[in-house]
Amino acid sequence: MISSTRAHQLRGAKHVVVFTGAGASAESGIPTFRDALTGLWEHFDPAKLATSDAYRDDPALCWGWYEWRRHKVVKAQPNEAHRAIADLAKRVPKLTVVTQNVDDLHERAGSQDVIHLHGSLHSPRCIDCGKAYTLPFTPEALPEDGSRIDPPRCTACHGYVRPGVVWFGEMLPEDAWSAGLAAAEECDVFLSIGTSGVVYPAAELPLRALGHGATVVHINPVRFDISGREHFLQGPASVLMQGLLSEAFGDLSAQ
Ligand code: NAD
Ligand code: ZN
Repeated sequence: MISSTRAHQLRGAKHVVVFTGAGASAESGIPTFRDALTGLWEHFDPAKLATSDAYRDDPALCWGWYEWRRHKVVKAQPNEAHRAIADLAKRVPKLTVVTQNVDDLHERAGSQDVIHLHGSLHSPRCIDCGKAYTLPFTPEALPEDGSRIDPPRCTACHGYVRPGVVWFGEMLPEDAWSAGLAAAEECDVFLSIGTSGVVYPAAELPLRALGHGATVVHINPVRFDISGREHFLQGPASVLMQGLLSEAFGDLSAQ
């Protein structure tokens, strides 16, 4: 039994927001930020590697890190949590998926109109003129530890191509941020799944939802401090999301 109160609230919700972080993709084998700092990158701080300064200082080191991560994503499959989230869209009047993840596993599980607050590993662009760059579908096969890779050059101005993600210190894409904020302020249930809640402004969304009267539920195997008005379900996203859906909506295989 997950929590019949939470299941009941989910069943009665008019608009659910699912807000995901790296933990939602962890069970697909995509490392969370901390875990991504292995091998060649183990001595780096993600807050330093994922910046425009880091890229300009050492483009091959930085681009190699992103290509190593893209390689992992291309090889990975969506997990039960991604699938349960896509399934939830069929069971509630309105569902908005807002993710901090830069992978495409929600989309590959069937979620539509996913709001990507932090961009995507799959949409690189020129660092100078902004022109989009098409990467080969399959990234270069990389050693387990990763390697340095020279970034490709822009076909228009010969500038370096940079990853299509939001780096620390950069603004979030305005459309994504305003859509995420509007959904958080409108929803009645806000599920925050697999996020450590330390990266701002994204981490503001659960607070905005709470401030507008939503039931906020955190799903994470590692407990952290929350206010007395929020709820915590402790455990892996796959198990808890499947459990929550089957408690709220009954035998899923029969529907
Ligand atoms: P984070 O790495 O800071 O935190 C991950 C959270 O997931 C932790 O709280 C951890 O306890 C939890 N977790 C681990 N396994 C889980 C599981 N099976 N089920 C549920 N939760 C689990 O990630 P964050 O909060 O997303 O913020 C850091 C930044 O990292 C974000 O900006 C994001 O863009 C980026 N990031 C994205 C990816 C990706 O796209 N898959 C991967 C790594 C980092
Ligand atoms: Zn260019």
